[in-house]
Amino acid sequence: MRIVYYPDPVLQRRADAVDLAWDGLADFCASMLETMEAAQGVGLAGPQVGRALRLFVAAESAEAKDGDVFINPKIEPFGPIVTTEEGCLSLPGIRAEIARPEFVRAWWIDPGGGEHEAEFDGLLSRIVQHEYDHLDGVLFFERMLETDRLRIRPDLEGLADQYRGG
Ligand code: ZN
Repeated sequence: MRIVYYPDPVLQRRADAVDLAWDGLADFCASMLETMEAAQGVGLAGPQVGRALRLFVAAESAEAKDGDVFINPKIEPFGPIVTTEEGCLSLPGIRAEIARPEFVRAWWIDPGGGEHEAEFDGLLSRIVQHEYDHLDGVLFFERMLETDRLRIRPDLEGLADQYRGG
């Protein structure tokens, strides 16, 4: 799979629920895990491979075997706000400190149709919240401090130039 970069419009729209009866779902999820590993990422959402679908993969390391698939997730972030540096495979070269609640409770379906509920902290909480944003068309610079948004503006313009083939 090819990773889609900012400012592709698929990254900035609300994604659609996954049809659990889709017979390509398991293969699609396996490909997403492989793509995440190949990109040395720890999270990848449907829109980032060009499909506006509500699913993402997340892993504590960039190895596909460690990854979990979250289909049609719901999340509830909670706890104190903590600030951690984030990056995004769809915005290469850009990193910034982002403030989010420390913990997240999540409900999701796995590729086999199993239902899950769990609480995450640390890196996985961060990844789950970042990837969930992708399903709502929210990119992480929207959560940056104004000073960081100004700092990365040239990087965003550079990505826009590349997208237009400049
Ligand atoms: Zn991202």
